[in-house]
Amino acid sequence: MLRLSESIRQNDPSMHAMMETVENAPRLTEMVLAAWRLGLALAAKVVTEELGQRAARPTAWPACPHCGLVRLWSKGLVRREMKTLLGKIVWWRRTGRCPRGCKIGQTAPLDEELGLVPYQRTSFELQQLACLSAVFLPFETAAHFVQRFTRVSVSAAAIWGWVQDFGQRAQARLARELEQLEAGQLPAEEPLDEQTAAQALLIGADGVMVPFRRKAGSPKGKIRWREVKVAVLARLGQHTTRTGQTVSRLEQRRLVAVLGDIDALSPRLWLEALRQGLRSAKLVAWLSDGGRGFWRLYAERFAAHATGILDFYHAAQNLWKGTAAWLDGRTKRAHTWFAGARHQLRHGQAEEVLADIAAALDLDGLPTSAYETLTKLYAYLDKHRAHFDYQKFKALGLPLGSGLVESACKWLIQQRFKGVGMRWSEEGFNYLLHPRLDWVNGRFDDLFHLRSSPNF
Ligand SMILES: [Zn+2]
Repeated sequence: MLRLSESIRQNDPSMHAMMETVENAPRLTEMVLAAWRLGLALAAKVVTEELGQRAARPTAWPACPHCGLVRLWSKGLVRREMKTLLGKIVWWRRTGRCPRGCKIGQTAPLDEELGLVPYQRTSFELQQLACLSAVFLPFETAAHFVQRFTRVSVSAAAIWGWVQDFGQRAQARLARELEQLEAGQLPAEEPLDEQTAAQALLIGADGVMVPFRRKAGSPKGKIRWREVKVAVLARLGQHTTRTGQTVSRLEQRRLVAVLGDIDALSPRLWLEALRQGLRSAKLVAWLSDGGRGFWRLYAERFAAHATGILDFYHAAQNLWKGTAAWLDGRTKRAHTWFAGARHQLRHGQAEEVLADIAAALDLDGLPTSAYETLTKLYAYLDKHRAHFDYQKFKALGLPLGSGLVESACKWLIQQRFKGVGMRWSEEGFNYLLHPRLDWVNGRFDDLFHLRSSPNF
């Protein structure tokens, strides 16, 4: 039997030199790289051959799109060129003209069959790879990365163009989903395996600052920091480390983010929560520190479904602030009282802490500033009475702090949007944010496959 390398050579003498490079490669690395090039060239040939076959089949000519009176005629074969993952592919296919002479531009039924759009010069799988690289890397680096791995040269500007295109599609899809939700149509729950479905669903939100341009269109001028609201939804899994420790870990992690306020975050988070099984989960927990309206969002949307957990470390920090103002933070008395109160807070005796503070507020001679700080502390603890049953949370296996949640939120933004010298325009930020969210949420590929569906 003929060796594969021999049969390739016999079939296609143009492969001879490439095959020789493989055969003469001294080291494995060189052999693999040479074979990879050979593989790409072979694959491109296979695709070109297949396209030639299809172009030779009879064409079902449609009616003239202009007059509609007659079917188009072939005006012969016209060259088509496309940058693909396999390099440049060239083929010839029939284009049509109207026998009545209508001006209809170039019409090629085969292009349509192949899922191509007019004037497209780069095929979608290459655009997809480039966009995916840009989800993680700055555009220049992404261009370099794509070129390195495909040997196809793609400019940073071209990648930016595709990110805009698919970023717009991602935003349009979300807008439609939000409209459907608004109209009372609930989204389908994401299917989960039995083990994951049995885990607690954690939800939390946080704000992350992002550097924006002060003036549209110009990267110059001072940075304008704006807050992006980010929320994470995840199942709480267990993981055993190499040293045999069991630690909690977020699984089935989904992120929601918006350049806007809490009210803009609210329906987006609700949509994803429904998808992630808010209604069917055995246990749902909302984790947050005391910050900026997130507890209002909890009260409005989630209180009926989820156990609210106030970040214990944040609560203790506030407790210390109050203690220091009341008893003078430099004294032993302050430290002793704080240690006792912190312990009580942690172990289900928050009522006693509240009673102590109430009693302190009744004392004569309490300085005004201390009175104000303590009043604030009392109001804070009182508001969260239902959110620091830490003994129960611990027994349920839930975390007491929102750290896991906050770091997931920060990662989404930090890793890609806060590089050295980066400043975003509002549009630019949103174009990239949405494909990045889709990637994190396992919906990135849909974005590319849905192109020809009526949804787009
Ligand atoms: Zn016509």
